[in-house]
Amino acid sequence: MDWMLTEEQKELQQMIAKFGKNEVLKRAQECDRTGEFPTDLYNKALEMGLHMIDLPEKFGGGGFDPVTAVIVQEELAKYDAGFSVSLFASGLAAKPLLIAGTDRQIQMFTDILAQGKMAAFCLTEPQAGSDAGASQTAAVRDGGGYVLNGRKCFITTGGMADVYVVFAMTDKSKGVKGMSAFIVERGAPGVSVGKEEDKMGIRLSNTTDVVFEDVRVPAENLIGAEGEGFKLAMKTLDMARPSCGAAAVGICQAAIDLCRDYALQRKTFGRPIAVNQAIQFKLADMEIATETSRQYVRYVAGLIKAGKPHSTEAAVAKAYASDSAVKVTQEAVQIFGGYGYSREYPVEKLYRDAKIFQIFEGTNEIQRMVIAGNVLKQKA
Ligand SMILES: Cc1cc2nc3c(=O)[nH]c(=O)nc-3n(C[C@H](O)[C@H](O)[C@H](O)COP(=O)(O)OP(=O)(O)OC[C@H]3O[C@@H](n4cnc5c(N)ncnc54)[C@H](O)[C@@H]3O)c2cc1C
Repeated sequence: MDWMLTEEQKELQQMIAKFGKNEVLKRAQECDRTGEFPTDLYNKALEMGLHMIDLPEKFGGGGFDPVTAVIVQEELAKYDAGFSVSLFASGLAAKPLLIAGTDRQIQMFTDILAQGKMAAFCLTEPQAGSDAGASQTAAVRDGGGYVLNGRKCFITTGGMADVYVVFAMTDKSKGVKGMSAFIVERGAPGVSVGKEEDKMGIRLSNTTDVVFEDVRVPAENLIGAEGEGFKLAMKTLDMARPSCGAAAVGICQAAIDLCRDYALQRKTFGRPIAVNQAIQFKLADMEIATETSRQYVRYVAGLIKAGKPHSTEAAVAKAYASDSAVKVTQEAVQIFGGYGYSREYPVEKLYRDAKIFQIFEGTNEIQRMVIAGNVLKQKA
């Protein structure tokens, strides 16, 4: 479907492919196994501005539209999904600001990113994942600002980021309407990075707790109005879900490419396994799931670009693409047989990497709640 891409999108895709093949892929399998964090690789990507690709040009970002952004995210995820997700975490954290922040706040935030630094989106807490409205982190008014106390967990790039967007309760008695969003700098007294997760997959990403102990935040760091935080978090996730789906598509494509080559060269009973219809049908089903996910993700990114409502569609894209990635990579392990189960071969990593996409940015059960809720609201 390359004919649907603009020349600029194709050039960008080729640039990412070159970086992915020559730099990311070479390191990904080893870092996945050893747990080594590829700081040098991240520095190169940050120098290339990949973490700011979808931020407005007037604030120093790449200025690329949501469709181009998902094309980039997919391509990068083909080489390593954790790396891709981490680079897009800064754009995720920037979204509440782009929705409700002032120009001054956006500029302050993007000035930090422009120095090759990263940002993180801090919503989840130990007792508030799917039920984000149950957050306990408190922001209490104090003089000219707020004092934050609480612990966020499972934060992507939590230990790498220099600036956080943090959701905290300014008035617990109001439930979700008592949540507000703040910009918090990593260097502020009382901010610390907690435990780092030892994860099943996307091991090139850094996932940590972030702790706030009597952290003073100036009032000008409040994003939007007090009480708007939950709405902002939900709008942000709606906008980010195609990006999550795009990374899942990248994993699917990597699995298909590996399986095609393997099926053509691996012989059983004197013939390549690719001649067997059982293997061909697996490849066909993998292609159906991948191409359908890819086109739907791009369609939803198009809705966002056009400023159209996209809540249901974003949830469909995220759930469908991530469910597809798990099925496709599971079949990839099967096509590789015993070698698929061995860490010497790359497909088991894809299977492990794929699983998280059914869990974060709202589990697929939560996506189905969103979709069903919107379906039930529709009138005949
Ligand atoms: C690697 C990784 C990176 C992450 N990055 C970030 C990040 O950058 N920022 C951030 O804020 N968060 C992040 N998260 C957190 C992630 O979004 C949450 O883990 C996720 O939303 C699920 O929350 P939970 O883990 O508390 O599960 P729970 O909410 O405890 O859910 C447990 C299970 O119950 C199901 N469930 C819950 N409620 C219902 C219901 N009403 N109906 C049906 N089923 C239900 C869930 O779908 C799930 O299967 C990350 C998580 C991981 C693992």
